Amino acid sequence: MKEIWLDLNDIPEEGKNFIFDDQSFWEEAWKNFKFNTSVGEPLVSEIFVLPQENGCLYKGSLSGSVIVPCDRCMADHEQPISSQFEDFEQLAEEGEESFLEAADGTRRLNAGAIFWEQFVLAYPSKPLCSEDCKGLCPECGADLNKGKCECKQDKGDPRLAVLRNLKIKN
Ligand SMILES: [Zn+2]
Ligand SMILES: [Zn+2]
Repeated sequence: MKEIWLDLNDIPEEGKNFIFDDQSFWEEAWKNFKFNTSVGEPLVSEIFVLPQENGCLYKGSLSGSVIVPCDRCMADHEQPISSQFEDFEQLAEEGEESFLEAADGTRRLNAGAIFWEQFVLAYPSKPLCSEDCKGLCPECGADLNKGKCECKQDKGDPRLAVLRNLKIKN
């Protein structure tokens, strides 16, 4: 996975804004983490960094869209990605995980890892091509959005038949 590090020594006291739109950052990350995804509308990541004595403040956003397979019918379709974030990151103590590291007399922020975390949070876990996608027939695999298949209608689980006749009292 490509890395994006921001050296705090290069950032003025009043802070600095960065914009990244290199799509190969995402393509490499998806390959690395086995995401079945491609770029729709190019993803743009923006981050404003304000150095502090014992860490740094940052805020930013991630926006664009991805092409992913539908969770029911497998059809590739577009899903928006949109995220806003704001946080304070403290300099990592020894053995601690942090986006901010001390290195060679400077402090550097792992912006690539922040963007990746935001992407994973914004990524749809069960993307659907449409809310009422009918999915694939479990018997023959036909795309039921394109019409009914030849298979018998599912009569449902016979063990649940008793529930279907049950009247619910209000
Ligand atoms: Zn679908
Ligand atoms: Zn079928």
